[in-house]
Amino acid sequence: MHKVKINNEIIIEVSNFDDLTNKEKPYYYSQSQRYALCPTCGSIVNIIGSIGNSLQSTKNHHAFASHLGAIPKIVDTEGLIFKSNYKNCPAYQGNKGNWQGIYRENTAEKKNQDLENYINNHGQMIAKEMSELTGVKFYNHDSTNSLYSSVVESFIDNRGLYTNLFYPDFVSRQILSVAGAVNFWGYIISDSSSLSTIKSSKLDNVLENVQFKTPNVRFIVTLDDINSPKFLLVKLIYPTEELIIGKIPANPL
Ligand SMILES: [Zn+2]
Repeated sequence: MHKVKINNEIIIEVSNFDDLTNKEKPYYYSQSQRYALCPTCGSIVNIIGSIGNSLQSTKNHHAFASHLGAIPKIVDTEGLIFKSNYKNCPAYQGNKGNWQGIYRENTAEKKNQDLENYINNHGQMIAKEMSELTGVKFYNHDSTNSLYSSVVESFIDNRGLYTNLFYPDFVSRQILSVAGAVNFWGYIISDSSSLSTIKSSKLDNVLENVQFKTPNVRFIVTLDDINSPKFLLVKLIYPTEELIIGKIPANPL
């Protein structure tokens, strides 16, 4: 995972770990001994890989966090917790396939307050992640744009908050996969591969620069297979046809 919890409630990117903990206990002991909590199950994790360390995570994140099987002796237990059922956590790396449950799970009776708070407090971070994933811009300068608002509103309308699972690494994908189609006129396509897909398509005739000016086109992200998703498909829906402009791996890890 690339997001961890400190001070009980604060969720941070592992790349900001030293800055946001100020290298203080119980989180930091040395460059190879950094600890926090999993934001999904609340059990202790350690940070693996960082500058000067040869270990690699997948994708472009260098450092990542992984569950521990016990609290190390060195750690001041105040503030850090070990939960023996950590292997059931969807964010546990040995749990192959378990993460797919995230995509099936908006049947809870109550709203997930952790998820709602996270979305309310991390809009800019989520918008940037969604932009990297889709090649479509969800923010302008330092604030989220109205495409972001429509997608999040649609996610909420489609009961996206009614889930028992809260897994911050997944939130961008969760929002995209639950939201319905939204109007796409006037928005910016920033990823060159999405752009070339559109330019090479017979559907293209009104794309001006990177701002999308074709009327009556809607943006949507769908799962390739709702039973065992492998990809999220980023699509533009035209009145009579549709165009896939991107494919996002369903598993971020
Ligand atoms: Zn966990």
